[in-house]
Amino acid sequence: MYDRFNRSIDYLRISVTDRCNLRCRYCMPEEGIHLLRHEDILSFDEITGFTRVAVAKGIRKVRITGGEPLVRKGIVTLVKMIAGIKEIVDLSMTTNGTLLKHFAGDLKKAGLHRVNISLDTIDPERFEYITRGGNINDVFEGIDAAKKSGILPVKINCVVKESKEEEDARGVTEFCLKNDLEIRYIRQMDLVQGHFSAVDGGTGGNCALCNRLRLTANGKLKPCLFSDIEFDVRDLGYEKAIMKAVGVKPESGSNNLTGGFFNIGG
Ligand code: SAM
Ligand code: SF4
Repeated sequence: MYDRFNRSIDYLRISVTDRCNLRCRYCMPEEGIHLLRHEDILSFDEITGFTRVAVAKGIRKVRITGGEPLVRKGIVTLVKMIAGIKEIVDLSMTTNGTLLKHFAGDLKKAGLHRVNISLDTIDPERFEYITRGGNINDVFEGIDAAKKSGILPVKINCVVKESKEEEDARGVTEFCLKNDLEIRYIRQMDLVQGHFSAVDGGTGGNCALCNRLRLTANGKLKPCLFSDIEFDVRDLGYEKAIMKAVGVKPESGSNNLTGGFFNIGG
């Protein structure tokens, strides 16, 4: 699929839940979130059905995200259903890693190719502060489990305020070098203010190269993270929603007043 600006759209990010077991300061609002109702959340059949139509239209890369994807009940089954769509050449997941030790082996068997794990510091107290209560040892165990299960390469997503020279980021860089992990630095963004920028080691943030569509847990298809444009895949039907989203995908992002990272999936 090509959009109006001749960008090839072949990447779909699916947020499978708006829930999370952490409360990262840059992602979740301080006052907590208004959770979606169970009946508003797409079922596994709906997610897989939508993905199948998207693949028929040209999607080849799929990333499962959230919220925290591993808190969605039955996530291994969903991964297996999506992995069954054989045209998908790259099936990945972004996770905070805290529950990964329980799932890594089964995710590999289900057909997950690779994983990105978010880690912004290696200092246990800083981690607890940033995530409002998380235990960094859970992430370390999750990283080990992913490597042992062969969900490779394991990439680390490290959010920085300005640069990778900040103290927290330097610690994560060193940790990745020692542990044979790839690292991507993501500058902290503000959806409301429209502050975004390119990611070191990734393609995000560069609108001219943007190849993605995003599906939220409640079935809104978003052509751009930094825009309020969205199409309801239940109301419109999958194919129509895809064609509309690709048809109006903005040349570049502006701002987004109707969603957050926790429910769009980053
Ligand atoms: N819970 C999973 C996790 O943390 O990896 C997946 C969802 S999370 C919304 C996806 C990615 O978005 C994570 O790597 C996270 O660090 C990033 N993210 C969240 N809020 C952000 C922000 N304000 N600016 C930049 N990246 C952000
Ligand atoms: Fe949860 Fe991921 Fe957001 Fe942190 S960044 S609050 S782990 S969804």
